[in-house]
Amino acid sequence: MTHGTVSEPGGGTAPGAGALLAILRDGQARTRAELAQLTGLARSTVSQRLDVLIDNEWIVPSQDTVSSGGRPATAFAFNRGARVVLSADLGATHARLAVTDLGMTVLAERAAELPIERGPEPTLSWLVTAFEEMLAETGHPLSQICGIGLGLPGPVEHVTGRPVNPPIMPGWDDFPVPEWLGARLAAPVLVDNDVNIMALGEHWIASPEIDHLLFVKIGTGIGCGIIADRRLHRGAQGAAGDVGHIRVGTAGDALCRCGNTGCLEAVASGAAMAARLREAGIDADGSRDVVRLIRGGSAQAAQVIRQAGRDIGGVLAAIVNFFNPSVIIVGGDIAEAGEHVLAGVREAIYSRSLPLATQHLTIRASELGDRAGVIGAAVMVVEHVLAPGTVDQAVTPAVH
Ligand SMILES: [Zn+2]
Repeated sequence: MTHGTVSEPGGGTAPGAGALLAILRDGQARTRAELAQLTGLARSTVSQRLDVLIDNEWIVPSQDTVSSGGRPATAFAFNRGARVVLSADLGATHARLAVTDLGMTVLAERAAELPIERGPEPTLSWLVTAFEEMLAETGHPLSQICGIGLGLPGPVEHVTGRPVNPPIMPGWDDFPVPEWLGARLAAPVLVDNDVNIMALGEHWIASPEIDHLLFVKIGTGIGCGIIADRRLHRGAQGAAGDVGHIRVGTAGDALCRCGNTGCLEAVASGAAMAARLREAGIDADGSRDVVRLIRGGSAQAAQVIRQAGRDIGGVLAAIVNFFNPSVIIVGGDIAEAGEHVLAGVREAIYSRSLPLATQHLTIRASELGDRAGVIGAAVMVVEHVLAPGTVDQAVTPAVH
């Protein structure tokens, strides 16, 4: 199965308009001759396909360059401003929204308190209104939306975009999010869990050339997004990376919100850290309070967060041996507490993973911070909409 090709008479396939667009997406402008050489297509075929892409505004003539024969030749470049993407990262209590172009440049951004437990219809209605206001700010009509990407704080069946028994999202189970939003904003809607979109965002911004990457989110819960062979690995049911409920020795019989005992989350989540600080007589309600205490120089908070880092690192050490990533990125609310959590994670991984697996392993904090989710949701949409097969379907009339 080859993407980006269309059937040719005689049963062969040749690169379609989508494949040309995929080449131009790196931002470099190219002439017809260069594209013919890269694809093996005849110059006339390249011209036809470029015309289709120009008609759809995906590319624009960018400059005149002098060809080897001395005649000026027009070069063509990817048009990042052809469409806009709406993206949203919904957490348990707050939301972040963005309007981006096709190169993931943020054109408008908004953050707001938005308790997810209000249920799907009030939450998504708020989202539609906010998006309409943001589009008015950037001056784009609804017709320029190429897609909407949404991250939710719970398990999502990616194919249908529906939440599956999300523990902190009452009323959302099996809610048809893509249909509901798509009917109001007239564009394709892609939904995934928040950790997966954050992994996509970090991979895209910091290290698109990295093949194997783990993104670990430490906040109210603990989760892991997996990039394997440069693609998001969701697993059979979309449950891949749910590391928060792996049993850890230090957890003893601590009760977890999932109903089991001894889970990683029961000792190392933001909520568990806050509970430990309360036991020590310090006022703390959740991950944000833990971060506030760290920034205020609390030695107890530093101790608690470093131990949580070790617990998380202990689980990651096993995953490093199994998966052999080259980069681990730590994000989420707690990562904002800085080096304490990273130090604990590193300590456990380097002492317990195989030397070969850690030889070139980089462990670092998130680069995008609280923007990782909205950037990743935009990446999810752009990769879908601009996939060569999708572009060919959109621009090629059916042949009978
Ligand atoms: Zn659990």
